[in-house]
Amino acid sequence: DAAADLRRVAVFGATGSIGASTLDVIARHPLRYQATVLAAGRQVQALLALCRQHRPAHAVIADETLYAELRDGLRDAGLATQAHAGHAALDQLAASDACDTVVAAIVGAAGLSSTLAAAAAGKRILLANKESLVLAGELLTRTAERAGAEIIPIDSEHSAIFQCLRSRDASLDGAGVRRILLTASGGPFRGRSRAELEQVTPAQAVAHPKWSMGPKISVDSATLMNKGLEVIEAHHLFGIPGERIEVLVHPQSLVHSLVEFVDGSTLAQMGLPDMRTTLAVGLGWPQRIESGVSGLDLLTQGRLDFEAPDTDAFPCLALAWQAMRAGGTAPAVLNAANEEAVSAFLQGRIGFLTIPTLVANALSTLPTEAADTLEVLLSADQRARQLTLNAIAAT
Ligand code: NAD
Ligand code: MG
Repeated sequence: DAAADLRRVAVFGATGSIGASTLDVIARHPLRYQATVLAAGRQVQALLALCRQHRPAHAVIADETLYAELRDGLRDAGLATQAHAGHAALDQLAASDACDTVVAAIVGAAGLSSTLAAAAAGKRILLANKESLVLAGELLTRTAERAGAEIIPIDSEHSAIFQCLRSRDASLDGAGVRRILLTASGGPFRGRSRAELEQVTPAQAVAHPKWSMGPKISVDSATLMNKGLEVIEAHHLFGIPGERIEVLVHPQSLVHSLVEFVDGSTLAQMGLPDMRTTLAVGLGWPQRIESGVSGLDLLTQGRLDFEAPDTDAFPCLALAWQAMRAGGTAPAVLNAANEEAVSAFLQGRIGFLTIPTLVANALSTLPTEAADTLEVLLSADQRARQLTLNAIAAT
């Protein structure tokens, strides 16, 4: 019966770019999906607007000082939606009976705790928040495995690999995989030399040529740190060693990634650059559902180009490989230093080329430790943030 098939979806990061794409797909299938929990960081008015539209059972604002505004807004709108605030409420709702599917689309390490809670509770997780895998990949995948939680990647490259393999579980050697080729658009500054990047502004950096995304990931795409984070993400999601992952710049952003098999066959997944496709894959899997995205007209697109990444102009990619090889707390340090550096760049406090300098500084200053617990990882994250904030204050 229809009610038994209704999936209850918690959208964490509902007011963001991925949140909007998720809610667009959900609204196309009112009999199959219902947004039962909507959560945001600080944008309480945007969250209220979404509540009026989607009428969830619960709404959460992470910033506790905004609780009264959320509660009163819901009441004034005559909604039965229950108001919550704070990070503990996020974790509790991620694990609660209010949802069976959690869309993890909070930006940054702030998304780790609720994603871990959803994993421990055995939910289906549509994972957009790549930073949580970079920070605590082993812990998160292990927790999910133990609790029987299903992690479906939303990042377009990882969704492409997932679709080519038809799962995350097929052990890569068992599936005959030789290597994974991650495609990168190259961002807004592709083709520029290091010297030409000196004076670029935040407005130029967030103007991505192919994808419309939140400010943090847009800057990461401009530095190529995004691709570096995605290499680490692929390593954890598919259990593949770094040496078997390659990065290819593909400016048209139509081939979302490729898998090469031992027999010489290569499978690629293609489509227009619109995240509603990967969200529909995650919501419907193993079935296919309408996403609102049209198919690819290759005659109009004309051509597909591929080139090697320029690691001299964009050192962040090499820094991410370095952190992945070092292992332990190094990826956590990389991610935390990058988050603070990107935030300072967006505020106009540092230049574009200072981002990789700050990340390299954190990696070389902080010792790499074995990372078997969440405490160790979070403490490395905190030390890297403090070190980076001090370095920014000194510039
Ligand atoms: P965004 O900036 O548009 O949205 C971020 C969301 O997180 C907002 O709803 C915000 O309120 C919420 N948030 C921020 N800090 C929070 C906190 N401390 N606690 C709770 N909520 C908080 O970002 P986005 O582009 O939607 O990206 C979200 C995640 O998805 C990122 O990890 C990004 O790397 C990943 N991702 C995004 C895209 C894309 O196309 N936008 C593609 C691939 C992966
Ligand atoms: Mg991506």
